Amino acid sequence: MINSSYDFAEKNVNSSKDKISDYLIKQVSEIVKYELNNYEHKALHFWKYAMSEKNNNLGSLLDEDLKVIVCGDWCMNGKVEGGFLSAKDAAKKFIKYI
Ligand SMILES: Cc1cc2nc3c(=O)[nH]c(=O)nc-3n(C[C@H](O)[C@H](O)[C@H](O)COP(=O)(O)OP(=O)(O)OC[C@H]3O[C@@H](n4cnc5c(N)ncnc54)[C@H](O)[C@@H]3O)c2cc1C
Repeated sequence: MINSSYDFAEKNVNSSKDKISDYLIKQVSEIVKYELNNYEHKALHFWKYAMSEKNNNLGSLLDEDLKVIVCGDWCMNGKVEGGFLSAKDAAKKFIKYI
């Protein structure tokens, strides 16, 4: 699997998929000094909506009446630490009900 940088993905989000994958395969072939064009399966995926434009700083969201709490990366940022921080915040709020 070849992962591009966020910058590269953002700059090329509207380019042709074949052009991008050919470019990435060529670059990595040169780096590893092995021709990678001999593949049986090729699929390019943009995680176009994976990153939100702005970071939220919600922690977690608690409905005191329903006793429901929601958390997740979307409460903070689209990364694993956002998911962790949101879950930590939820646990902190939740613990007083136990
Ligand atoms: C391809 C890819 C690459 C990534 N790379 C990185 C990276 O390099 N670095 C980084 O920091 N982050 C990366 N991320 C983001 C990271 O994976 C997420 O930010 C993180 O997993 C969010 O954690 P979460 O607990 O909020 O949500 P999730 O990990 O999505 O967990 C939600 C859970 O809820 C469950 N669920 C959903 N609906 C229900 C339901 N109705 N009932 C019960 N369970 C339900 C799901 O099955 C899932 O287990 C990547 C994500 C993807 C998709």
